[in-house]
Amino acid sequence: MRLRNIPGSREAIGASEYVIPEESECAGKWRELFGNENPIHVEIGTGKGRFLMELAKVHPEISYVGIEKYSSVLLRAIQKMEEEPLSNVKFIRMEAEHILRYFAKGEVDRIYLNFSDPWPKERHAKRRLVSREFLDRYRVLLKDGGHLEFKTDNRDLFDFGVEETEPAKWEIMEITYDLHHDEKMNRGNIMTEYEERFSSMGNPICKYVIRPLR
Ligand code: SAM
Repeated sequence: MRLRNIPGSREAIGASEYVIPEESECAGKWRELFGNENPIHVEIGTGKGRFLMELAKVHPEISYVGIEKYSSVLLRAIQKMEEEPLSNVKFIRMEAEHILRYFAKGEVDRIYLNFSDPWPKERHAKRRLVSREFLDRYRVLLKDGGHLEFKTDNRDLFDFGVEETEPAKWEIMEITYDLHHDEKMNRGNIMTEYEERFSSMGNPICKYVIRPLR
């Protein structure tokens, strides 16, 4: 993601009706915020929001929350929402490590991670969104029967994610190392911005679907 600081992006996000204010007490109140009892699906590292918004159009019966740490990137998602508002999408600008402040235990039905930052240095392994430290957080907020879906073209990050599942006590439900040639797992696939870019360069896309063992 190009990290160009866009002057005023933080203010624009703060004023947007599509963004939940950073310090708001939203844990346990997401269904109230959306005004219905629909399942809550969360994408962490949503970038410019394309994946989430495409999904939201196909699934009006689901409420979607996009988490992104950079205002300048989230601003693009907000601009798209202004052009084509979707009542089942909200965003939060936040660092994912604080996710348990924003969602109550068992409040989330599904988590999506798409093309997460690889943090290649070993000493930064805990920052990878598929690390056991993050899986421990996701376990709390996922309801029983909920699951997590992760896509990336980065084989090292994917292998790391696969290796983390067992010590974190999660189980792999589905896995592919070439999503676009896996008829079953690719059914209904919605491409993210990064997925389109890297698959057009010939990179195979890896995907797993995992759930916490209870
Ligand atoms: N998911 C999008 C896609 O597939 O096109 C964007 C992928 S981009 C490589 C990763 C995005 O995740 C960036 O926008 C980055 O700012 C965001 N991100 C990375 N780590 C994060 C974290 N710890 N908390 C919140 N957002 C994060």
